[in-house]
Amino acid sequence: MEFRLIDRIRERTALGREDVRLGIGDDAALLAVPAGQELAVAIDTLVEGVHFPQGTAPADIGWKALAVNLSDLAAMGAVPAWALLALTLPQPDAAFIDGLADGFAQLAQPHRLALVGGDTTRGPLTLSVAVHGFVPPGQALTRAGARVGDAVLVTGTLGDAAAGLRCLQGPMQTDARTSMRDVLIDRLNRPMPRVAAGLALRGRASACLDVSDGLLADLGHLCDAGGVGAEIDAALLPRSPALLGLFDEVAARDFALGGGDDYELCFTVPVARVAEVQIDLARLGCGATRIGSIVAGEGVRVRDADGRWLEPGRAGWDHFAA
Ligand code: ADP
Ligand code: MG
Repeated sequence: MEFRLIDRIRERTALGREDVRLGIGDDAALLAVPAGQELAVAIDTLVEGVHFPQGTAPADIGWKALAVNLSDLAAMGAVPAWALLALTLPQPDAAFIDGLADGFAQLAQPHRLALVGGDTTRGPLTLSVAVHGFVPPGQALTRAGARVGDAVLVTGTLGDAAAGLRCLQGPMQTDARTSMRDVLIDRLNRPMPRVAAGLALRGRASACLDVSDGLLADLGHLCDAGGVGAEIDAALLPRSPALLGLFDEVAARDFALGGGDDYELCFTVPVARVAEVQIDLARLGCGATRIGSIVAGEGVRVRDADGRWLEPGRAGWDHFAA
């Protein structure tokens, strides 16, 4: 469909890469995987009203559609290289496309990621981005591999995106707290994929995944994959000043445990390596916080600040569960 729309996308995302032998414009892209590398591929779809609120700025939509996919590459310890974009639009709209492509490019450029093709169709606003990255054979981080006794860590802070969504749904605030609200909404709309952190974890993390559905759900997947359990201390959960400034302790804890869309990395490392990993991730800007340990058994248990185990059935966070 609409070739001019595709041209607009191509112009705005143009980026030279040696390994792109043929990019947007032919029936298929031709790409050269560097010798000695494995190809890591992932795809995620964002549907308006489901994965981002109606009324989200086009540039934020373009950014987020790429960010959630780069986050998957980050969680594998892969270096991003190429992307495809399948775009479904209610109607051809040049201004909307320009915004979307600009938001996509803002994140693609620092990662030297080339958009090499896609598809454009008419229908309810939906974006599917497929990403491709490289990882040396045997060095990818996977969900399996956590060992009993390993420390459980997360990058950055948790709960901000879910709290940002709550802010969008609530009444506008016009006092000094507006800036904290904006910080949380920005975390929802412009997640920062932890690509550099994922690379730094190669050869160190025993297991890793990104937190897209909420810490409890995702750490649960990591535990299932490794045949282990985890014990988490709610008091150790890293929470941002904005989250703690706008929500009480229990709400902030529940956002951090159950809220999705943070796109931080959750990973396990042998205890002896925790300090070294924390120093390196602090240097990369996101930092990493130890929140608990891997234990024998299955499932994730959460100890509250008073030392008691939280009961999923009664705690406020079970309604977030996917
Ligand atoms: P075909 O029908 O042969 O698949 P299309 O008209 O769908 O061709 O696409 C023409 C070219 O534009 C192809 O190279 C395709 O990869 C690219 N393209 C189409 N839509 C997009 C998009 N939303 N983003 C990037 N490239 C796109
Ligand atoms: Mg096509």
